[in-house]
Amino acid sequence: MIVAIDGPAGSGKSTVARAVAKRCGLTYLDTGAMYRTVALRCLQRSIDLSNAEAVTAVARGCDISFGVAEDGSQTVSEAGEDVTSAIRTAEVDHNVSAAAAVPAVREAMVARQRELGSAGNVVAEGRDIGTVVFPNAEVKVFLTADPKARAHRRAVQRGGEAAGADTAEEQRILDDLVRRDRIDSTREDSPLRPAEGSVKMDSSSMTVEEEVQRIVSLMVA
Ligand code: C5P
Repeated sequence: MIVAIDGPAGSGKSTVARAVAKRCGLTYLDTGAMYRTVALRCLQRSIDLSNAEAVTAVARGCDISFGVAEDGSQTVSEAGEDVTSAIRTAEVDHNVSAAAAVPAVREAMVARQRELGSAGNVVAEGRDIGTVVFPNAEVKVFLTADPKARAHRRAVQRGGEAAGADTAEEQRILDDLVRRDRIDSTREDSPLRPAEGSVKMDSSSMTVEEEVQRIVSLMVA
């Protein structure tokens, strides 16, 4: 069983993908974390994100793996170093789409994603899971939400309720989401778009539990 969940940043993919994986005993695969890791390594090495060749070399050299923390949450490592928190900064947010727009970077990441999903029983989330990575996934979902709801969700995730109430921070996140959406949807080789056979869901009007139940019902259908 492969469940593919695609959609723009902040649409709630991670929350629902994690919940479905937990409920159904499937492995959760966060493909955005992989592109974030590439961007992080580029930033740490002062590599110009517009230099496709250099960014590709970094991506090909990345050894990305996932693990489980003591509290049950997922960890991300590169070459054995835990990068779980380092990939969730405003700087990485701002630069990740440039790294992800390089076709050879995507090739390298897609190959690794297929390797990680080769045993099946995966809930994978990203932008091109149903269209490119696992086009034969049994269940495909395209999750959207209104941009303001997405920015609010991201702000709360990042800094707790206090940050969620900070309108300047929320505006910055909203600007960044809109900018990333533009880059992600206009990419030539695998633009963000609903896969053939995908079920579209708008998370702004649903609770997480409703989303999970809907996806589980698609799995048994
Ligand atoms: O999902 P998340 O916001 O962590 O993804 C970060 C970025 O990684 C996205 O904005 C997008 O540029 C890129 N990405 C991608 N393809 C995927 C997953 C993420 O291009 N399958």
